[in-house]
Amino acid sequence: MTKTKTAEMTAAAETVRGNIPLLQKSGEHYLDNAATALMPQTVLQAVANYNAETRANVGRGLHNFAEAADEQFAQARATVAAALSAKNDEIVFTSGATAGLNLLANALGQTVAKNGAVALSLGEHHSNIVPWQIAARRGGFAIRFFRLAPNGAADLEEARRIIRGASVVAVAHAYNVSGAVNDISALAQIAKENGAKFVVDGAQYIPHGFAAPEKLGADFYVFSGHKCYAPNGIGVLWGRKKSLAELPDAIGGGGSITEVCEKGFSAAEPPRRLEAGTPPISQTAGLAAAIAWMQNIPQAAKENARNLAQSAREELAKIPGARVLFSGGGENAPNVPIVSFVVEGAHPHDCCQILAERGVAVRGGHHCAQPLMRALGISGCVRASFAPYNNDKDLRALVAAAKEAAHILRR
Ligand code: PMP
Repeated sequence: MTKTKTAEMTAAAETVRGNIPLLQKSGEHYLDNAATALMPQTVLQAVANYNAETRANVGRGLHNFAEAADEQFAQARATVAAALSAKNDEIVFTSGATAGLNLLANALGQTVAKNGAVALSLGEHHSNIVPWQIAARRGGFAIRFFRLAPNGAADLEEARRIIRGASVVAVAHAYNVSGAVNDISALAQIAKENGAKFVVDGAQYIPHGFAAPEKLGADFYVFSGHKCYAPNGIGVLWGRKKSLAELPDAIGGGGSITEVCEKGFSAAEPPRRLEAGTPPISQTAGLAAAIAWMQNIPQAAKENARNLAQSAREELAKIPGARVLFSGGGENAPNVPIVSFVVEGAHPHDCCQILAERGVAVRGGHHCAQPLMRALGISGCVRASFAPYNNDKDLRALVAAAKEAAHILRR
């Protein structure tokens, strides 16, 4: 890479970093972005503005505050829809990816025949496993898992075999441990050939780039706001209009109906039918601001994050006693900037503790991916996850602290 290019990327990352108040106050090397990302000033301000200036509930009141809240809420929905190249009424606000996946498992689970099957990959986060297991318990159907390839992405041949005859396929767009990005179009095609509904968990992908779920062939797509610079307590469930309309009832309450009487209720049209109760209104203001902010992140800063992750992968692999998991991206298997590793013989929490004492914030444990950990023959690992505000100092601090940890803990 040329010096000019490196300088451009470094400068872009520093500009992005300047937007994050928490990083101005603290010298922390924050590499836990896959758990939750830090919030830029514009997002903090948008949330504060809603609470200070509007505050009202949505979809109910006729007074001025209520009208302003309705307007902001509709705008936020339109912002999310535009980012996903979708229509406004295809966007359902949830409290997070987990809530979206539970809603889908509750609803779609009702459509799976007894003795039918839901197919998942072995790399899924528990949020994309447990809701299906709960639904399977109720519906008497099976959950089948397909393996990952050595680069950490779904093994398509194995997926083809496992998906055969399944009614629902649910898979991550990008994995939270390997960082590998799945070939969603190919998986969508396999699901379609089997007449299965195709659910995509975009929690780890959206922070790094907006997807166009309809174009990718998904029926449903979920993500969480807090991993993409928005507040926590907000998530998005996108569904094709027809797919949303066909979902069996799974939740209900204020706002989700047109009429209720003693005998029953008539459901409202989606998205409100799927947003029972007071939605996370201030959070939608934050999410809309976060999306606007993400759209302005310079490409060079995103590239910088990817390069830092790749350098971390290479540098960590050189440390005696450390082992980087998965072979990583490459041109045909892109990765989001996540690197997971183990120090042989050491507990990941001990490793994280040593890193934390040196101001390096990473995550250790099973990462809510126990089936994957089991398949890898480990109980947990350490994960460093990069964002466009991370810089070379963060990388150096990570590598130096990991060296010390490996030296101290290696048995
Ligand atoms: N899916 C994946 C791939 C994730 O990484 C996470 C969060 N760790 C989730 C789902 C759940 O997200 P949330 O806790 O925000 O609902």
